[in-house]
Amino acid sequence: KEEPPSLDNTDSPPEIEVPRRKTRSRSQKKSEENHRKIANFVTKLAMNSGILPNINKAPKQRKINVNMRDPIEIEWKRKSVIDKRKHRDNLLTILKYSNVIPFRNKSLRGFICGYCDATYPDPIDLRSHTQNEHEKERYSFKSSFDMTEYNVKLDITDLVCTICLTQMDNLTKLKDHLVDNHKKIVYNDIKDHIMQFKLKKAVQNARMPLQLKDL
Ligand SMILES: [Zn+2]
Ligand SMILES: [Zn+2]
Repeated sequence: KEEPPSLDNTDSPPEIEVPRRKTRSRSQKKSEENHRKIANFVTKLAMNSGILPNINKAPKQRKINVNMRDPIEIEWKRKSVIDKRKHRDNLLTILKYSNVIPFRNKSLRGFICGYCDATYPDPIDLRSHTQNEHEKERYSFKSSFDMTEYNVKLDITDLVCTICLTQMDNLTKLKDHLVDNHKKIVYNDIKDHIMQFKLKKAVQNARMPLQLKDL
């Protein structure tokens, strides 16, 4: 803490010193302002003549916007792709280790095959058709059984685990069974789009609506 002695022992009165300082700072400000004006003018001249790159034209703001938007869109796309893959993997696991029969819908003529346009009033015929004609396609989905379409319909009549031939009441029990007893992977963190039915044979009159029993 050393105070400069020159300030303490000053002889000159403060009234004179203060205005002198003010005038000095005022003139300093003015000269700084002039200096800045000249500098700006020179910079502008240089930019206009092409000596300096025009930094004002750089689209900084736009660049930031694009960079911020893109990762979000990619994140969304990636999430839906992952969900689709999990859904597909779950369905593949069920098709691999059970006797479910995929079907597309019902029409007046009966149940439409999940792989082709064949239609059968009796689900037993649809089952034997699927097992005979589409055995190779069962795991690969090359034909009209569209894996990109959600809400897959499965006939789970006489459902069994094909690894140990244990009977199952529904797909939830089958999935738990596959995880617990056969160490298979089933994803539970996605919405389940698989609809399960126990199909019943159509009544003789073809105009009668076919019964779909949802579980
Ligand atoms: Zn078919
Ligand atoms: Zn089993």
